[in-house]
Order: sequence, then structure tokens, then C-alpha cells
Amino acid sequence: MVRRVAVVGAGVSGLAAIKCCLEEGLEPTCFEQSEDVGGLWRYTDQAEEGRASIYRTVFTNSCKEMMCYSDFPFPDDHPNYMHNARLQHYICKYAEHFDLLRHIQFKTLVTKVKKRPDFSVTGQWEVVTQRDGKEETAVFDAVMVCSGHHVYPNLPLDDFPGIQKFKGSYFHSREYKEPEKFRGKKVLVIGLGNSGSDIAVELSAVASQVYLSSRSGSWVMSRVWDNGYPWDMLVITRFQTWLGNVLPRAISDWLYVRGMNRFFKHENFGLMPLNRTSRKEPVFNDDLPSRIACGVVVIKPNVKEFRETSVLFQDGTVQDDVDAVVFATGYSYSYPFMEDDSIIKSRDNQVTLYKGILPPRLEKPTMAVIGLVQSLGPIIPTADLQCRWAIKVFQGRKKKKLKKQREKPKATPLFLSSLPGRYGNSTTLQTDYITYMDELASAIGVKPNVLKLLLTDPRLALEVFFGPCSPYQFRLMGPGKWSGARKAILTQWDRTLQ
Ligand code: FAD
Repeated sequence: MVRRVAVVGAGVSGLAAIKCCLEEGLEPTCFEQSEDVGGLWRYTDQAEEGRASIYRTVFTNSCKEMMCYSDFPFPDDHPNYMHNARLQHYICKYAEHFDLLRHIQFKTLVTKVKKRPDFSVTGQWEVVTQRDGKEETAVFDAVMVCSGHHVYPNLPLDDFPGIQKFKGSYFHSREYKEPEKFRGKKVLVIGLGNSGSDIAVELSAVASQVYLSSRSGSWVMSRVWDNGYPWDMLVITRFQTWLGNVLPRAISDWLYVRGMNRFFKHENFGLMPLNRTSRKEPVFNDDLPSRIACGVVVIKPNVKEFRETSVLFQDGTVQDDVDAVVFATGYSYSYPFMEDDSIIKSRDNQVTLYKGILPPRLEKPTMAVIGLVQSLGPIIPTADLQCRWAIKVFQGRKKKKLKKQREKPKATPLFLSSLPGRYGNSTTLQTDYITYMDELASAIGVKPNVLKLLLTDPRLALEVFFGPCSPYQFRLMGPGKWSGARKAILTQWDRTLQ
């Protein structure tokens, strides 16, 4: 019987975990090593060890109607895409509104999570924490790991011959905060992800020249989509997902490439992804094409070799007098507090979590990893639904299905459907947003029944099917139903325009 739950981390995932535990009558204790909630979104001038670090100008890529908690819309007057400080304000309001703060022990680092000797019978965990140098151990019936996955830099220096000879400075994007110290310098940014393109664009306002090196290209999307509406409210719809599933693969790929080229023709900008039909996470950057068009950002292929002051690229070109290199090469997953980290950790990005949440080989399903999957959708509603699902599992409501799962000889992949072909060998744990959300929602009885709605509330049914798949959809019915969900769905476009 699960009662006491340890939550590691008080970012957006940890807060969702606390709230969901309380909703289900469990007793959560959240341990947060820093002094406040927010995780990645709480900006500080210096990167803190063990916590994600962002640059000063990070804005969200998901709009407010798509990235809110499913029963806590953003205030009407918030812009559609937000500066990190505004999102942090919203996160604090969420914690206050649902009275979550009293369940959090701040400045408390989780140093060890290990199975109790009788784990196979009780499913209990021993959690060791440290605060002000004092160590404490407590026993919990379940653990929700919400420690984030943008913390430990992936810095593949071995893939860059000659980097030791290079006389300029080089560092991982995690250390980047603002552009001023690069005024008048020549800077090379390696990696065309969201951070790499943001940093390249920002630097291009002050640097004498910015080079952006990409191994395999990327789709670059604008936040502002058809008729100026937020991209995600138009793209992430049940109708589009249905269309993608029923159309022959060749047609759906053609439509996808056409849609991605709507903002600008990637081929003309040297940005075309090598695997053009792979649904790899796109980059969101409204300014990158114009910075390239103005010549202040120059796109380069992969680096072949670093020399003392210059860089040789794979196409044979050389750039001289490079002053600094920013490695925007992503992050690796790490769970230093796990006594046996093979319980969670992915090998070569082969995910071994059932539904992207549960370590499948545990004798008892009493651990959940929240917020690790990445999809084209926003993380807050994903984490929220993952928590609701995981807690039902803790409570034993899906025992039979899980037992069957564990009996399978191999570790259960993240997804059993058509993922590998479509998503390729991405460096992130990619999944299709609506398909994933519906799978979790169906299992706990909160997936909106569009046919039933069509008979009882046709206006709502049409908005649910053709409109944005906003988080409120998962609070319309079933356990955890929110009485404000219908209204929130029917007024989402009003708030967007406001
Ligand atoms: P985090 O926010 O990383 O929080 C983890 C918390 O756990 C931290 O507070 C940390 O201090 C704590 N912690 C870790 N280890 C321990 C320990 N051992 N003991 C105690 N406490 C611990 N997602 C979107 O949906 N939309 C966006 O627009 C978006 N933009 C992004 C932009 C950038 C630049 C980056 C890097 C990511 C972005 N993301 C975005 C993804 C982002 O990861 C999520 O939005 C979200 O912040 C993840 O929240 P989390 O709670 O899972 O992890």
C-alpha cells in the first residue's frame, strides 16, 4: 500500500508530482536542493551544480494555452510566449494556489536512493538527504524522480581533433548567460538545436561574426504560424494526428516537409535536415533566417579539425581568427543519487522505461521518472499526466498489465508503436505528443471521448478534435476532472488574442 512518496526536485515536474499525490490522498515529501521552486526556469547569473542553467533571454517555445498545467490556465494578459521570468512567476503562483510549498524541503539534496532489503515484498525505498551538512535517512513507499535532464553537459571533445591546441576559449552552452563579453569577437557555435540557434542569433548582435556549425541540419520553425497564430495551437491538433496516421506514409511525409518549409526554404539556407522526414524536434527561432540572410550568422558544416587560432570544416573551408567556441551539444542523462543507476539510465539512448516513466525490471512498480520524454508538445502537461498515471500504478490499479509487461524477456521500450521508423535515432527521447498523451489518458480513464461529446456537446467536440490539443482536454472527464475545463477550451482563442 503506497502512502509516503518522495519527490526528487521541485521544478515543473516535481510540483505536478506533489499536487497529484495530494489529489490521490498520498503524502508527498519533495526534496529540492536549491532555495526555490521552478528548476530550469529559475534564472541565476551563475550556473548552479546539479541544476539546469539557462541564459538570460530564454523565451518559451510552447505558447501559454498549450504549456499550462491542465487545471491552471495562465492569466489572460500574459503574452503567448513568455520570458523565463514570467514563466517562473506562473510556476510560483501554481505552487501557492495548490498549497504545495509546505510539502517541499528546500536546500535539501537527495544523495542516495536505494531499495530497502525487503524491496521485493514492500517496494520501499531508502532516501538519504543532506541539508546544512547534516545527513538524514527516511523510508518511502514510492519515489518520483523529477530531477530534470538539462543538467549534465554533453561535451564530446574527443570528436573534435585539435581542440587542445586551440588558443581561444571554449565552453558548453550551459555556461552561456549573455552576449556582452563577445563584443567584436568571432564566435563559432557548434550545434543547431534550440540553445545553439538562440545563442548564435543573440551573439550576432554584438560579435564581429558568428559561425553556426551543424552536422545534420534541422527544421527551423517560427513561433508565429499561419495568420500570426501560435504554431503549436495550429499544428498540435487531434485532426492533424489522425491525418498523419491514416494517410499513406509518402503523402504524410510530403505534407510534413511542405509544412516545415512554409516559413522559408531550408535548402536555400543550408539548413535542410539530412533525414528530412524524421520527426526530430524542430528548432524554434523567428530570427535565424533573417540573421543568415544578413550574413551575420554563417552556416557551416561539421568541424573537421581545430588549429591554434582557426577551424577547418568538413567542406574544406577554413575560418581564421576564431576567438571563442560555444558547444551547444546538448545534455546527457544522469542520476547520481541512484545507488544502482542502471535502474533508470538509458544505454545509447535506448530507453528502458515503460511508457517513458517506469523502470520495467523492478520487482515492485514504485518508482516513476517524470519529464524525461520529449515530444513536439510541451513538458508541463506531459509531466502532469505522467504523474497522474504513475500514481494510479503506485496504487496498484494497473498491476495486471504491468505484471505481464515485466514477464517479457526484453526491457520494454518507450513506445510499442511506430516510433523507430518515424523518429529515427534521435539524441532525445522523442515521441508523438497526442498519441503519447492519449495512451496515458486512456489507461487512467481521462481521455476525452470525442464521439460521446459529439452527441452531448457538439461545439466542444469540434473544438477538441479540430482545435489545439490543449492540456484542459485531459481534465474534461474521469478522475481528476476539473469543472473549468470546458470553459477553458472554449475560450482559449480569446485568451490567445488578448
Ligand atoms: P528541471 O526544471 O530541471 O527541475 C529539476 C529540479 O530538480 C531542479 O530544481 C533541481 O535543483 C532539482 N534536483 C535535481 N537533482 C536533485 C537532487 N539530487 N536533490 C534535490 N533536488 C534535485 N519545455 C517546454 O515544454 N517548453 C519550452 O518552451 C521549453 N523551453 C526550454 C528551453 C531551454 C533552454 C531548455 C534547456 C529546456 C526547455 N524546455 C521547454 C524543456 C524543460 O526541460 C522543461 O520545460 C522543464 O523545465 C523540465 O522541468 P523538470 O521539472 O522536469 O526539470
